Amino acid sequence: MDEIKINDFGDFGNWVNNTWSSSSSGSKINVISPYFDKKIATVPDSSPADLDKVINKARSAFYDWSNTNIRDRANIMSSFKSIIEKDIDSLASLIALDNGKTIADAKGSILRGVEVIEYAISLPNVLKGDSSNVAPGIDCTMTSEPLGVVAGITPFNFPVMVPLWMIPLAITTGNTFILKPSEQTPLAGIKLAEYLKEAGLPDGVFNVVNGGKTIVEALCDHSDIKALAFVGSSNVAKIVYNRCSQNSKRSLCLGGAKNHMIVVPDADKDSTAKGLLASSMGSAGQRCMAASVAVGVSKIDHIIDQLVEEAANFKLGVDMGTIISKNALDRIIRYIDEAEKMGAKILVDGRNAIAPNDFKDGYWLGPTILDRVNPDWPSAREEIFGPVLSIIRTETLEEAMKIENENPYGNAAAVFTTSGQIAKVVSEKASAGMIGINIGVPVPRDPYSFGGWNESKYGHGDITGQSGVQFWTNLKKVTSRWPESEEAWKKYF
Ligand code: NAD
Repeated sequence: MDEIKINDFGDFGNWVNNTWSSSSSGSKINVISPYFDKKIATVPDSSPADLDKVINKARSAFYDWSNTNIRDRANIMSSFKSIIEKDIDSLASLIALDNGKTIADAKGSILRGVEVIEYAISLPNVLKGDSSNVAPGIDCTMTSEPLGVVAGITPFNFPVMVPLWMIPLAITTGNTFILKPSEQTPLAGIKLAEYLKEAGLPDGVFNVVNGGKTIVEALCDHSDIKALAFVGSSNVAKIVYNRCSQNSKRSLCLGGAKNHMIVVPDADKDSTAKGLLASSMGSAGQRCMAASVAVGVSKIDHIIDQLVEEAANFKLGVDMGTIISKNALDRIIRYIDEAEKMGAKILVDGRNAIAPNDFKDGYWLGPTILDRVNPDWPSAREEIFGPVLSIIRTETLEEAMKIENENPYGNAAAVFTTSGQIAKVVSEKASAGMIGINIGVPVPRDPYSFGGWNESKYGHGDITGQSGVQFWTNLKKVTSRWPESEEAWKKYF
């Protein structure tokens, strides 16, 4: 906790051509630390004119960058990875101050992002293309080509990891990139710009434009942006996806989630209780992979008792950080109040949590566990995005699967069991893109790709792994025939 110190970093601009550039919009956004309820910086609320400036530089850089050998591009990623690893302590402190995570959580999230850089470093081997002789005298080759200037829009909850889902793959495949980080947590993400410059990335290849809705809309509308990846809430993901589609722009928009954990009586008591708690309360429940519903099939009280005991020992500031903002805190508390009024049994009440010393002004909420929740209540159906676990009880596995299937989201689902057969049924029947068996946060490790289903994603494919590479590239197929004449060959023999 002592590494989290209040600091005012001053006014940032946009990162254009490897240097800071001021915005012409005249409008600023305050960046508030959720640990202190204090301003730690401002970023511009950039205008479409600012975006034009960024795009001009990114477009000018594209020719040279896309013609740079992929091995040289991957070598820059390798230096980028080393710089992040060397500076991980200060980067983690910055994420914590900016976002409210604990230092340990922030470090873990950086390392997950670094896994994508590792994959990007391997791209010279992965993207070797394909070639074969398809008919007498005719050859086909297939290569992955960059698109041009591309963009990524990211949410508050993983200020480094989510940008790293996009930047390494988009840049190593030869595109030039514009990041629009969350205006709530822009600091750690834009630190990546300085690292990339230090790693030797040429001017204009990576750029940052700060702001909110106006700049997101301008990115969707600008014809020079050839592809756009978005990660955030489902409401906005859908708006961005539709707006890009209207502009015939390629987009992949990852949205929110309501992930279910199915718990059956044969599950191992201790590891299941730990798994439920880590998934629902880790990062203060502010992650799209948090499972916020536990569906208990039949008699699972021994597991719930253990869960409640462990939750009671959770220490704010050690096991989890703050909520991102006062607004978010109020919204989460409204869900708890409402569930209580509707008849939920409150097994653990985070509303009474005591803020850690030195952080009394922070936006704190302790682990909250609601039991006997009805599947139709808002707390069971909607994304709360806080440390709140709703427990629904069912008699059968079939009922549990129906509840999981009927939820409109589909990011992740998990099952806790010692039965291979139950694990198989749940993993086959769950309507979600990422499934955990005795794992509450089933994030696939690269090269296995990250991405949900249903209303957790608009667009085709996943954001990382091979699917991510495909998103940032076009396939080019070359079919060739060279005249074959005996005379021509004889000349050489
Ligand atoms: P958000 O949707 O509010 O913001 C995401 C981005 O969209 C930000 O950069 C923001 O500036 C921009 N934005 C916000 N409102 C906008 C509007 N009306 N028009 C245009 N742009 C707008 O999301 P958030 O609160 O920053 O992040 C939390 C959400 O992100 C949760 O729903 C969470 O589940 C989701 N998320 C999903 C994934 C995933 O992989 N599926 C990963 C992380 C977070």
